[in-house]
Amino acid sequence: MSFESLGLREEVLKAIVPLGFENPTAIQEKAIPSLIESNRDLVGLAQTGTGKTAAFGLPIVHLINFSKPVTQAVVLCPTRELCLQISGDLKEYSSQFVGARITPVYGGSSIEKQIRDLRKGSQIVVATPGRLIDLINRGKVDFNQVEIAVLDEADEMLNMGFKEDIDFILSHTPHSKRTWLFSATMPKEVAAIAKNFMTDPLEITV
Ligand code: AMP
Repeated sequence: MSFESLGLREEVLKAIVPLGFENPTAIQEKAIPSLIESNRDLVGLAQTGTGKTAAFGLPIVHLINFSKPVTQAVVLCPTRELCLQISGDLKEYSSQFVGARITPVYGGSSIEKQIRDLRKGSQIVVATPGRLIDLINRGKVDFNQVEIAVLDEADEMLNMGFKEDIDFILSHTPHSKRTWLFSATMPKEVAAIAKNFMTDPLEITV
């Protein structure tokens, strides 16, 4: 199967050419068409290295309206390294869209700079839970127009004690949003999040 047959916009296909992506990986092939054609939630059981970042990142970039400087997608992940990795990848995927802004927010670095970056209007916010809670409490993020929430490495986030933070963050996004959860394992705590926050999710295992 080719990337062209997945239904992605021309700008997205063009953006991935320099990345050397020739054919979609298994999770991309299964996830991308459904995520862009239907309005479904998703639970993806997948390890790092399977191409899961593009499996959710390309649909996000396809679906977002980059002419509006408002946050439409929020991606939660467990660590600063992953936060920077995901936001770097999303910047590449959105390179063909004028006005695209992706802001990583994570602990251990200047919150003031992150606040300044957010104020410019980011369509996608990629965050570790602790720092994002701080920004929500300071009134520095507006999630009223969020349409997609991604929980990446959900099992790791729960292992790190972020369960309540995740609940709090999701409660600050619209009920109508879609939620896409990725996890390498499916302990009962992760299954509980899927049950509480999702409606009839598409389930993909790779
Ligand atoms: P991830 O599982 O998202 O951490 O991705 C693992 C690695 O695979 C990253 O270096 C990606 O850039 C790369 N990658 C993702 N999708 C593809 C693809 N379709 N073809 C080739 N490389 C890919």
